[in-house]
Amino acid sequence: MSESTLEKVISLVRAEYDSAWYIWHGGEPLLAGEQFFRKVISLQKKYYDKAITRCGNTIQTNGVLLKSRFIEFCRDNRINLGISYEGGHDADLRPDIDSRMIEEIIAYMVKKGHMFSVTSTVHGGNIDKMGDMYESFKRMGASFCYSPSLRIGGGLDNEDLHLDADKYADMCIEMFERWIHDVDVDIPVMPFNQYISSALNAPNVSDCAHSSCLTKWICVYPDGSVYPCGKPCVEKYRMGNVNEISSIDELFKSDGFRNILVDSIERRKKCKECEIFPKCGGGCTVDAMADGDVQSPGGFSCQVYKKLFKHIAATMVRIINEKEDLSQYNRFVRDAVIGKLTNPNIITPM
Ligand code: SF4
Ligand code: SF4
Repeated sequence: MSESTLEKVISLVRAEYDSAWYIWHGGEPLLAGEQFFRKVISLQKKYYDKAITRCGNTIQTNGVLLKSRFIEFCRDNRINLGISYEGGHDADLRPDIDSRMIEEIIAYMVKKGHMFSVTSTVHGGNIDKMGDMYESFKRMGASFCYSPSLRIGGGLDNEDLHLDADKYADMCIEMFERWIHDVDVDIPVMPFNQYISSALNAPNVSDCAHSSCLTKWICVYPDGSVYPCGKPCVEKYRMGNVNEISSIDELFKSDGFRNILVDSIERRKKCKECEIFPKCGGGCTVDAMADGDVQSPGGFSCQVYKKLFKHIAATMVRIINEKEDLSQYNRFVRDAVIGKLTNPNIITPM
């Protein structure tokens, strides 16, 4: 991304939004070089000035190019590092990764109390290793998120990466049960922890897919093209180019944004009868597109969420209604239950 495009993005966002979170991803964003991120921070300081805490950053990286000096720069500037790593179980996806080096980096950040998170892609080649991933991150003391490979982008044509929805949901349920009964575990596991909050709390606390992203996110490509999401979008959702507009507002008046809005509304109309619609919100439009029919629910992400979320919600309701002995659960479950019992007014049971 050129410096002028970068400055245009930051200046437009600052002019129209009180606060913003910038997520830098690729490909591999660190290929842009440290200087690029030093420029980002200096432009944010210029435009946000005394309100600099109103903007935040995440760099989503495979970690290969991370060096301790840059990690400290991130720490000093409150940049969250998102590491894409599968705990050494990344055959087929990242065969050239030096696992020992990545784990040294994670250990360094755990030790220094750095703001970071790990995303582990689960696919056809490593689904049976979800338990091993859990043990790896538990040992490292690093919270992580299971993220399924979708039939989109790099996962589109590689049959080896494809997942069966039922099998993936069952594996997630198995891992959820293992995690909640692991009384000494010190790491939250996503999305299980989010789904616990979502099951117990109102308003809905969840990930972007289940809390309606539209109008809250934009994705700017290096040439300035704008799409509604960082996941691969079809051309009909293109909202414009930051170099050709004078306000972000114009992007939301584009045909591209109208197209994704219409598709999302049509799908959500069909979701209205679903018993967990208040929690799901109709899911992610790009995921639905990957499943083949953007205007209809029922694809991979819908099937997984339905099975997994219902299991988690039923588990939490059972623990509370049957006044189960909390000592058999990890501290994240104990905290959620105690939170519900002490603040019943903010709770909407399923
Ligand atoms: S399109 Fe999907 S992945 Fe993208 S921001 Fe929206 S819910 Fe999230
Ligand atoms: S679980 Fe599926 S059917 Fe239910 S609201 Fe979500 S996307 Fe729609």
